[in-house]
Amino acid sequence: MQHITNQSLLSFMVPNEQQGIAVNNPATGDVLGFAPVSVEQDILGSIERASVAQKEWAALPSKSRSAVLLSWYQLILDNKEDLGRLMTLEQGKPLAEAQGEVLYGASFIQWFAEEAKRTYGETIPTPSGDKRLLTIKQPVGVACAITPWNFPIAMITRKAGPALAAGCSFIVKPSESTPLSAFAVAELAYQAGIPRDVLQVVLGSDARQVGRIFTSHPLIRKLSFTGSTQVGRVLMQQSANDIKRTSMELGGNAPFIVFDDADIDAAVVGAMASKFRNAGQTCVCANRFYVHSKVYDEFVSKFSAAVQQLKVGNGLDEGVSIGPVISAAAKQNIQSLIDGAIAQGAQPMSELRTLDGLFMQPVVLKNVTHDMDIIANEIFGPVAPVIKFSDDQQLIEMANDTIYGLASYFYSQNIHRVWKIAEALEYGMVGINEGMISNEVAPFGGVKQSGIGREGAKQGIDEYMNIKYLCFGGN
Ligand code: ADP
Repeated sequence: MQHITNQSLLSFMVPNEQQGIAVNNPATGDVLGFAPVSVEQDILGSIERASVAQKEWAALPSKSRSAVLLSWYQLILDNKEDLGRLMTLEQGKPLAEAQGEVLYGASFIQWFAEEAKRTYGETIPTPSGDKRLLTIKQPVGVACAITPWNFPIAMITRKAGPALAAGCSFIVKPSESTPLSAFAVAELAYQAGIPRDVLQVVLGSDARQVGRIFTSHPLIRKLSFTGSTQVGRVLMQQSANDIKRTSMELGGNAPFIVFDDADIDAAVVGAMASKFRNAGQTCVCANRFYVHSKVYDEFVSKFSAAVQQLKVGNGLDEGVSIGPVISAAAKQNIQSLIDGAIAQGAQPMSELRTLDGLFMQPVVLKNVTHDMDIIANEIFGPVAPVIKFSDDQQLIEMANDTIYGLASYFYSQNIHRVWKIAEALEYGMVGINEGMISNEVAPFGGVKQSGIGREGAKQGIDEYMNIKYLCFGGN
């Protein structure tokens, strides 16, 4: 493939559609290449090998696992340019964003390489004199993951890092839209010394089939999923049979609130970062804006002016800040939310041009009301609906009026209001005077139907470990 200097990253590729699935460039529609596909028997074999390999991997001192993970981290950094280009080619995001994701993705490997050495147990004061009590932490066993296309590397490393650090083996099924980045990053893991059976990437001919195998196989002890709430619900139901442990990072419907005491220019910068990253296709993207009536006109006009500066195009081209959306179905869905809002009275702040292929013109919509469909649904596209509010209590009710509870954002310079609102928002994460909140050191995760569990941070590794209580008698 053109643009990729280190061809060893692509050694997994297969020559044609008979042996694999075609991966397209969403910016051009071109076929980039073919990723290998496993049949059911292959996947069952993968799980068995992962189970055998896990024992040896877990038996290594944590310092050794840590060292191998750090080598992987370093190789990812060394290949940042190629991995970024590969990601832009298959996913569409602008090159600078793709390289940013490579670094963000790598940060989880580094962080959990460090955390591998800190999976402390506890000693517990005894309630009776003859007993001594303590806990140890042990890896759950074989962990598996199903990941989405919007962060083709980071959603894998955020799970693989803690799983491998904990002493689990790990099998991931990436999205069929973006498997090349997944296989390429795994190649680097093998070059770093992670055994091939300890970390595996598998694609099935059908995601549902892989999901059924992962959730029903007795050797799999843990499933970590990032994707839609709809699919997460199915996977949880399937996991219920075997009482399998799950972590779920699901959909969001993030409110972005601007109070009348906010620094409006800072709020516009935060809104741009939160809404338009990855063409609006992240689960923490601001989905709906609530702006106080006193500053509504100022915010909307400054926000729209900034949006009109965005350059839409092929992510490999210089200066492009918005790439294509992922698929024709996604584009149609976003367009129908925009059309619906306009039919219900919303007004676009700039000309709504129809672009070719999978490109979409970013737009701010004003005169939006809380009851519109565009507010209730996850948009996952470059459109920003802005609602006017005037009462804090009503605002909180509207902000929390959703089945989701992942990210939320607000801008205010009043310390009393900051505490009150931060506590009242029913979300797992709150950005206060900040539009970019994700990093490897903080716990990422949601409440309500946005998910269960936390990724990153000191908590992330606990998702892959069991606590074992040891009671020593006769002392
Ligand atoms: P998105 O809208 O981000 O694509 P999905 O939840 O549809 O979210 O997909 C996320 C991941 O889940 C992808 O890897 C996809 O292939 C996989 N997936 C979709 N449906 C199922 C299913 N029924 N069982 C298992 N995996 C699934």
